[in-house]
Amino acid sequence: MLKAKRLLALKHSISWRYFSLGTDFLGARLPDSVTIVEVGPRDGLQNEKQTIPTEVKVELIHRLGHAGLKVIEATSFVSPKWVPQLADSADVLQQINRHPDVRYPVLTPNMKGLQRALEAGAEEVAIFAAASETFSRRNTNCSIDESMKRFTDICQAAKEARVQVRGYVSCAVGCPYEGQVAPAAAADVAARLYELGCYEVSMGDTNGVGTPATVAAMFQACTKALPVKALAAHMHDTYGQGCANVLTALQMGVSVVDTSVAGLGGCPYSPGAQGNVATEDVVYMLSGFGIHHGVDLDKLVDASAFICGALKRDTMANVSQAMLAARKRSEAEALSA
Ligand SMILES: [Zn+2]
Repeated sequence: MLKAKRLLALKHSISWRYFSLGTDFLGARLPDSVTIVEVGPRDGLQNEKQTIPTEVKVELIHRLGHAGLKVIEATSFVSPKWVPQLADSADVLQQINRHPDVRYPVLTPNMKGLQRALEAGAEEVAIFAAASETFSRRNTNCSIDESMKRFTDICQAAKEARVQVRGYVSCAVGCPYEGQVAPAAAADVAARLYELGCYEVSMGDTNGVGTPATVAAMFQACTKALPVKALAAHMHDTYGQGCANVLTALQMGVSVVDTSVAGLGGCPYSPGAQGNVATEDVVYMLSGFGIHHGVDLDKLVDASAFICGALKRDTMANVSQAMLAARKRSEAEALSA
């Protein structure tokens, strides 16, 4: 009996060690596996001035799923008056051939949005609050406290519909109107969303002003207020700090990262802010550590090239630029050979 127990313990320690190999980094234990939440079709495309055909959005989502992404934020049920680019949200959600292993959350900023999302068959929704009072008032026309009241109703209705709710905290590091945001203020809003029933709270550096120093301080405050397993990092690359900030979050135990294919996106309410950290860049970095992410980088670069072709612009992802240039070089070599 004792021998069997010892054998079991040994087996357990071997398999645990096997899965934990290669993720120690400069004294910090990085997660063995990271979940990437692809936000390009929503966060990215909502900031495009041009009208994008519904079939292009649906094709992008299919390609991202084909590349191995398991969570793809599909669209947002905001009022078409605010964001006309997302007026076809119900069509997008209904036209996706949903893969059983992929989740397709949608943003629902208010009750009306939630109702429209549920009617369109949403199985997971997301809400967003701001850590800065001015941003909250300018972005959603209500104070942080008022937004929490609104979310109480949304979370209750979502629970009744058996739909999971993800929370976003925007301006978690800095605010375009107020400047630096206190880590305690970001942690407080995150804790309130968690208490309302959000299974995960994604901390957004909406205007991309964060550095590893300020992002670390923010996550330090957050991990005191809610479990690290319930936290996600949503970093923007505006000042080129995106990947460094993602790595900082990983060093602090965060294992869910929001990214956007081709670095699409920004924030329509945050002047000068553009570019979520690119999915390609984060996938490349994770592969460098041997961290499991489940994404096929070649197929991801194809998806990136597809959407950039449709938008008639170059990718903002460094990794896609490098890989597309390498592909061109080898094609030219093959032709001249
Ligand atoms: Zn974003």
